[in-house]
Amino acid sequence: MKQFQFEYNEEKEFSEKLNDFRTWCNSNGISNMFFQIYSEVLDDRTISGVCGVIEKIFPETWYMGCSTSGNIVDCRVSSEIVAVCTVFENPSTKILVRQYELTQETVDAVTESILEESEKNPWVKAIELYFPILEGSTTRFCDRLKEIPPDVRIFGAVSCSMDITSSMCRVFSKGKEISPKSIVVVFYGGKDFFVDAIQVTGWKPLGRKFHVTKSDGCIIHELDGILAYDVYHKYLNIKNDENFFYNALEFPLFYEHNDTTILRAPVASNADGSITMSSDIDVGSIVRISYGDPGTIVESIKEDSEKIHQFQPDVLHIFSCAARKTFWNTTEPTYEIAPFKEIAPSCGFFSHGEFLRVKGNLNQHNVTLVIAAMREGEKRQEEVPAMKPGENSLSKLPLVSRLATFISVTSMELEEMNQKLEHMNEKLKEAAIIDGLTGLYNRKEIQTQIENELIRGEKRRFSLVMLDIDNFKQVNDTYGHQEGDTVIIALANILQNEKSLSPGRFSAGRWGGEEFMLLLHDTDVSTAAFIAELIRQCFANTSFPLVRSQTVSLGVTQTNGEDTLDSLCSRVDSALYKAKKTGKNKVVVI
Ligand code: GH3
Ligand code: MG
Ligand code: MG
Repeated sequence: MKQFQFEYNEEKEFSEKLNDFRTWCNSNGISNMFFQIYSEVLDDRTISGVCGVIEKIFPETWYMGCSTSGNIVDCRVSSEIVAVCTVFENPSTKILVRQYELTQETVDAVTESILEESEKNPWVKAIELYFPILEGSTTRFCDRLKEIPPDVRIFGAVSCSMDITSSMCRVFSKGKEISPKSIVVVFYGGKDFFVDAIQVTGWKPLGRKFHVTKSDGCIIHELDGILAYDVYHKYLNIKNDENFFYNALEFPLFYEHNDTTILRAPVASNADGSITMSSDIDVGSIVRISYGDPGTIVESIKEDSEKIHQFQPDVLHIFSCAARKTFWNTTEPTYEIAPFKEIAPSCGFFSHGEFLRVKGNLNQHNVTLVIAAMREGEKRQEEVPAMKPGENSLSKLPLVSRLATFISVTSMELEEMNQKLEHMNEKLKEAAIIDGLTGLYNRKEIQTQIENELIRGEKRRFSLVMLDIDNFKQVNDTYGHQEGDTVIIALANILQNEKSLSPGRFSAGRWGGEEFMLLLHDTDVSTAAFIAELIRQCFANTSFPLVRSQTVSLGVTQTNGEDTLDSLCSRVDSALYKAKKTGKNKVVVI
């Protein structure tokens, strides 16, 4: 696989270069090839002029192209228009180019066609997408391509123009029109074609996390309930002025989606305090502000370029976000991709969004670098020596990177601490209402629940069952306190499991020592008495290690519409007293 680059400055010179190339191809028996045209110029006449020359000299060859925010050839910014010819040296390598009109209305039809095409052509190993700037979200498009066999790589970028804030773009291919609303899809494959693709950002998450609490497509309204602009202003002191875009660019939002990290850059701050982002972020996403630091980015790219180096590619396709170009503008827009120059010839462009399939899912990225590496045939060597550190390599991490790490770690520690505190708080709240020995509600809580029930309405009938273990003092005196506790816990467990006996809601509480109170919601006195009787029998049939068996007395009553907590409790207490007085181990209803 080889790559030949032809800068287009004016037609005559371009024709001559291509004619010479044609002659060379003919004499070397080369015919399996295709052209990619990248144009910073949006003008349709100019673009069709370039296409015309290629079509005339290579009438049987596929070509496709798009408008860009800067063309990349061999890791440098190239001329305004460039045509890159990829030559396949292996006859089994195939490509197929398709162009479809793509709007929100045609998303389903287009993805259907792509699925069909890949099904019809089982040789396909990679799909390259040249998107138009689509109004609204690309999520649906991405999600529908999940059905493509998982080993097929998918990557690409969004066409755009030199004005990064404009939505003008052009996408085109052989036999189709030059269109601002088309997607070009290039299918690559064949048995000797190999492909790998990675994404690199270099941007690092910074500080605390935020929940996206209100968003609508590309517009984020609120983060943790705070206006999105107020977050950028409070934490980064970024002003709502004409420099917002450039100031916020270093601090895109960073989040995890589909098992991969995604960046979204703030594009504009709006009058209502919302921020327009470079693409959509769903409500519920957990985001962090991230920062771009030149030194850290370069180091990060160096690491990833080694992976690509080991793949031993013949050619690279590089899609870099136009926002990265703006970020590096003070030095040199392609400064960061310099390490890839040593690996293989490359072409690509600065884009409005980047696409990469990771773990089966296709995602749209922003502020990201997507590198596709292609090769024909097996690797030449099992492993190649690691790349030499380039001149832009840093021996020492810059101060800002260390400070950012400090902030990140500090805020992670705070988050962990907060989680622990929240957990403790929950435990404390629980402890305040739960009896330690039995796990039932304590007296205060069961009283509160009875009071709440009384407040909720006169018509809502409910019943109380009060229980007291018979001759309990003797258990303690004869067998010890521990055996006494066992008996108390046994009765508590029966009450806890009372759910299976009672169809309605219930609450069970420990009233004191060996006394308990059951609150049976929406239950009349006859049902309550029936349940009380079941509990009595169940307890009487429970055997204990030392005391063997024990009994309980129960008083039952229901609300009468005029009850207070006192009147109700004293009535149920009287019922219980009567049970004790008349022989114990029984249920008495008042
Ligand atoms: P009656 O049949 O009339 O209810 O007789 P009783 O012996 O159960 O009467 P009383 O209410 O006087 O006895 C309750 C005893 O329960 C007194 C106290 O020592 C014991 N007690 C209170 N709380 C606990 C506890 O948490 N564990 C144990 N083992 N005993 C307790
Ligand atoms: Mg008692
Ligand atoms: Mg007792």
